[in-house]
Amino acid sequence: MFSLREVAKTYPNATIALESVTAGFEPGEFVALLGPSGCGKSTLLRLLAGLEEPSAGRIEWDKAARPGPGDIGFVFQDATLLPWATAADNVYLPLRLRGRTRDEAAPLVTAALAQVGLSDFAQVKPRGLSGGMRMRVSIARALVSDPMLLLMDEPFAALDEFTRHKLQDDLHALWRRSGKTIVFVTHSIYEAAYLANRILVLSPRPGRVAADLRPAIPEGPHRRSSGAYTDLVAEITDTFKRVMPEHD
Ligand code: ADP
Repeated sequence: MFSLREVAKTYPNATIALESVTAGFEPGEFVALLGPSGCGKSTLLRLLAGLEEPSAGRIEWDKAARPGPGDIGFVFQDATLLPWATAADNVYLPLRLRGRTRDEAAPLVTAALAQVGLSDFAQVKPRGLSGGMRMRVSIARALVSDPMLLLMDEPFAALDEFTRHKLQDDLHALWRRSGKTIVFVTHSIYEAAYLANRILVLSPRPGRVAADLRPAIPEGPHRRSSGAYTDLVAEITDTFKRVMPEHD
């Protein structure tokens, strides 16, 4: 779908966030970008979204995959909803900004809310929704344009553990159902191991790809307690021990 070729990013204040990141991404992959805080994960996501330019190297999109308006959905750590607008109107927003009428957009908004399990909450405003539900609205807002690529920047980090597990289950199921390509930033080894079918482990700043893992954990209700899952968590933990400086 696209490839990063020796991508580097140095900010104007001379912070080297990324150094020579090379990796190819296939359509339909669920890629976790996993690394300690400050290793450049969000920077990489912003480069993919076209919100920043690499200082060296390049991102090459396959011809058929070159993104146009609405082809990339972005989900942030905060749900960032308009407080005065209902869940449905928040989901409608990106279509509205692209000139779609409310009537045209209505079936898409309904479908996006259904995808995240919020059909019954379409007319509720953010203050009437739990933290998990607000994040679901945020995910629906990213899905409403039917993007080919969904970029997610630690979307579950602020949720309690029970809610987080539920949203992880639902996102994993949504990915399996929809076949969307997802790039998901996290600093949680457990979250990366549970969600993704590919994990790029980034080294501490400046970020480089320290490991490129393609786990195969059996699907089903016992995923989180399977031996394959705990083995993977151990493998990633060992990888970090190798790449983290001693004093950390
Ligand atoms: P992560 O998402 O892994 O926590 P970031 O990509 O947010 O890491 O940041 C990587 C490094 O780049 C950090 O040291 C951060 O302080 C720095 N950084 C991020 N954005 C900017 C910016 N706009 N200007 C200067 N430094 C930045």
